[in-house]
Amino acid sequence: MNEKPWEKMPKIEGGVVIDHVPINRGPLVYLVLLPWLKEGVTANIRTNIPSKKIGNGENYGKKWVFKIEKLIDDEKFIENLALVGGKELTLNYIENYEVVKKYHPELPKVVKEGILRCNNPYCVTTQDHHAGQRSEFILENEDPLIYKCKFCGEEIDQEKIDELVLEKGF
Ligand code: ZN
Repeated sequence: MNEKPWEKMPKIEGGVVIDHVPINRGPLVYLVLLPWLKEGVTANIRTNIPSKKIGNGENYGKKWVFKIEKLIDDEKFIENLALVGGKELTLNYIENYEVVKKYHPELPKVVKEGILRCNNPYCVTTQDHHAGQRSEFILENEDPLIYKCKFCGEEIDQEKIDELVLEKGF
C-alpha cells in the first residue's frame, strides 16, 4: 500500500495541525508560529508535500504542513494565519490523536493593533506617535486581498502584508 506523504509525519496526541499551506506562504506561516517555537513548543514541519487541493485540478501542487504539539487558539495567531496563509489553509485541532475541530480561518473584517501598519506617512496612525492613535484596518476585498486604513483610506494588499510580516520577523 502506498504511503501518503501526509502519513510520513508522526501523529500528534494533542495540538494543532496547520494544513494546506501553499509553498509560497509556508515561510510566512512559519514566522507567525515562531513566537511559540521560541517559547519551547514542539512542532513538526514538512515542506513541499504534493497536494491535490493546492493543485490546479489536473496537477498536484505543493504544500507545507505544520504539526504543533500545543493547542494554540490565540486570536491574533489565527488572525495572522488568515492574513498570510492563503485561503486553502486549514486548521485541525487534535485531541487524543483525533481531529476534534477543522476549519479555514476567515479573513478578519477588522484588524486592530495587529501586524498591519498604514503606508501613508501623513496618516494619524503613523504621523503622531504621541497621540497614540492605534491602527485599524477594514477588509475591503478578499480576492485580491485589500485592507483599508480606517483613518486615511490607504489600501494595503497581500504583498504589503507579507512585507510587514517579513519585516517584523516575530
Ligand atoms: Zn492610514
